Amino acid sequence: MSKSNFVFVLDADLKPLTPCTPGMARSLLKSGKASVYRRYPFTLILKKKVDTTPAPITIKLDPGSKTTGIALLQGSKVIFAAELTHRGQTIKASLESRRSLRRGRRTRHTRYRQARFLNRTRPKGWLAPSLQHRVETTMTWVKKFIRLTPLKSIIQELVRFDLQQLENPEISGVEYQQGELRGYEVREYLLNKWDRKCTYCGAENIPLQVEHIHPRAKGGSNRIYNLSLACEKCNLKKGTQDIEQFLAKKPDLLKKIKAQAKQPLKDAAAVNSTRWALFNRLKETGLSISTSSGGLTKFNRTRLGLAKTHWLDAACVGQVETLSILTEKPLLIKATGHGTRQMCRTDKFGFPSRYVPQNKFVHGFQTGDIVKAVVTTGKKIGTYVGRVAVRSTGSFNISTANGLIQGIGYKNCVSVHKKDGYNYGF
Ligand SMILES: [Zn+2]
Repeated sequence: MSKSNFVFVLDADLKPLTPCTPGMARSLLKSGKASVYRRYPFTLILKKKVDTTPAPITIKLDPGSKTTGIALLQGSKVIFAAELTHRGQTIKASLESRRSLRRGRRTRHTRYRQARFLNRTRPKGWLAPSLQHRVETTMTWVKKFIRLTPLKSIIQELVRFDLQQLENPEISGVEYQQGELRGYEVREYLLNKWDRKCTYCGAENIPLQVEHIHPRAKGGSNRIYNLSLACEKCNLKKGTQDIEQFLAKKPDLLKKIKAQAKQPLKDAAAVNSTRWALFNRLKETGLSISTSSGGLTKFNRTRLGLAKTHWLDAACVGQVETLSILTEKPLLIKATGHGTRQMCRTDKFGFPSRYVPQNKFVHGFQTGDIVKAVVTTGKKIGTYVGRVAVRSTGSFNISTANGLIQGIGYKNCVSVHKKDGYNYGF
């Protein structure tokens, strides 16, 4: 049996306690000492107050452009994992659709509308809506975990490369072999700087070796400016030749490589503005927060022999000695948004095609709620759990794991989890 996420536990005063194993949660529910507080993430509430001090929990974040990995750790034990999928692309698409409708109005034969595009200022630290959303949803979930677990510290992967490590090769010796931490930082950085291609022949998708532009044998340094990537063939061919000698017949390439090698560290390792914005927002939580580099994450993951998934990456962020992974099924959280304020939808040509009821709620349910329906009479006898789509007639559709069930009366439905802007899966 594969291991599931630990279950969050609150006491009667809503004070977060140490999360418990799924087995423990089952027996708490069976004995009537607790009841279900929330379905996603699964949280129990005890029926009495508890005075014990809970064990501190650390949250680790690996913010990604499409998916953010989240891992909760108690010491070195990974007890809860989640993958938060963002909806940046959807936001971009709907803003573009709004823009095209607005522009359409301007060219139609209506009253004159002043062109408005140069009259806006952007505040300092402005992020595009699709990027701001990434920060906001991650914050939403960090705050949620603060309410549900005794969270004490945050570790975030902030930068891709540890620049200090790269600038000072003498800090950790001069070797750049496999398995060495500096080796990882250097390799990741070089792959980024040289576009994952052989510097000399441009070959891609083949193993690349770290190469000294000014050869080691002739006094070339180990500093990052003197390193590039080469395929085995080019590396052997170049041998201990100087680059001028090796590329004597290709002056253009020589010039290009020399210019690229000198590029300052900052440019290639462009710091991600979204991650910085998230870091600044995380500080607001008042928890102790530390940051780490992508090179270190990869180093830890490879050393521990873990698969490349978002949640395992998150678990490997920061200084890690060992990890005991007590869960195998991350909670898959997908941001879906809270719907739209459009009162009238358009077809693909921009013509109004269907109207939307003013009230989203029908008999207390709204589309997107997770419901459990128990039908005892008629053709559709059975129990169905899934996402509901409401109809103003009171006859709902439920999309269950086994397909869509149509025409279930609202009287048979009980709400399991109210719509909160996310879809959940395992
Ligand atoms: Zn090559």
